Amino acid sequence: MAIMGVTATGQRIAKRVCCGREPCEVCREQSHQRRIARVLPNLLQLDWMGYIDITFPMEVRPLMRNPKVLALLAKKVRRLLRRRGYRKVYTRWHFFGKPFVYHPHLNVFCDGGYLLPEQLADLKDAIRRALLPRSMAKLIDNDVNSHYDYTRDEARKMNWVKYVTKATFLDREWDDQLASMLYGFRNGGWAGTWNDLPAWKLTGTDKKYNALIRLAKGLHPVLGEPIKWDSEPIPWVLILTDNPIHLGGWYYRLPPARSPPRRLDGLQDELNRLRERFQARAKARAEGARAKAAAEAAVEAKYLAQLGGRAVR
Ligand SMILES: [Zn+2]
Repeated sequence: MAIMGVTATGQRIAKRVCCGREPCEVCREQSHQRRIARVLPNLLQLDWMGYIDITFPMEVRPLMRNPKVLALLAKKVRRLLRRRGYRKVYTRWHFFGKPFVYHPHLNVFCDGGYLLPEQLADLKDAIRRALLPRSMAKLIDNDVNSHYDYTRDEARKMNWVKYVTKATFLDREWDDQLASMLYGFRNGGWAGTWNDLPAWKLTGTDKKYNALIRLAKGLHPVLGEPIKWDSEPIPWVLILTDNPIHLGGWYYRLPPARSPPRRLDGLQDELNRLRERFQARAKARAEGARAKAAAEAAVEAKYLAQLGGRAVR
């Protein structure tokens, strides 16, 4: 499926729908590019980028096969760093390092630079204490580990961004149950204030992400005009027949709508009609569903009134 969009001056853009699930091979590469485009506007604000990689002892990993636990641990890290004075913190989990072995580790970006050895030791100690009760660490004779690095180099920052945003859960079969549990899990987490101007620029081939950043914000990649997206998706094949030009991340530029189309074979005509019919049908379906829900709510309200206004759960 795909969603059509158009700007005020009639430029047409289509975006193909991604499922965005890590194990999905079909949209993995495009989902990754979109993810990069979503995080960059914030991460471009980090002049010095600090990168913390936190790993957990084998003994506690079974307890971490739970999205609620993962969300809580990431939040603890974001809070801890904010309390220690960092103004911007981003966290994202990697789930696997190699096939079948669940190895959750937390990637953290922050506005951090050089730390004195004692400051670094203190930070690592605070992370250990926040994420694993000391009694448990003693019991299993193992502990949370973290690795810290920092840079101001643009290429290095971009490599980190690509690495941290990539999927690591590449095959459902590695842990089918966990894959189900992670459905809908919001992996990336932000803390602090992210309203500064960009502190660095994309270089070389990474400049292609500038267009995707605009598209992710709903703007035309070249003109910067807002794109008005259709509310209902249409089948991807209807876009495919319209000479789409791939802009990356499954966004496509389409030639301006010909009006009226004058192709002798009438194919374009036929496709336009098909697309319009499909859009009208989808819209009618959505409206029908809304009307039905409203009617059901009215019946329920009437029934409740007859019961004497008592709320029934
Ligand atoms: Zn997919």
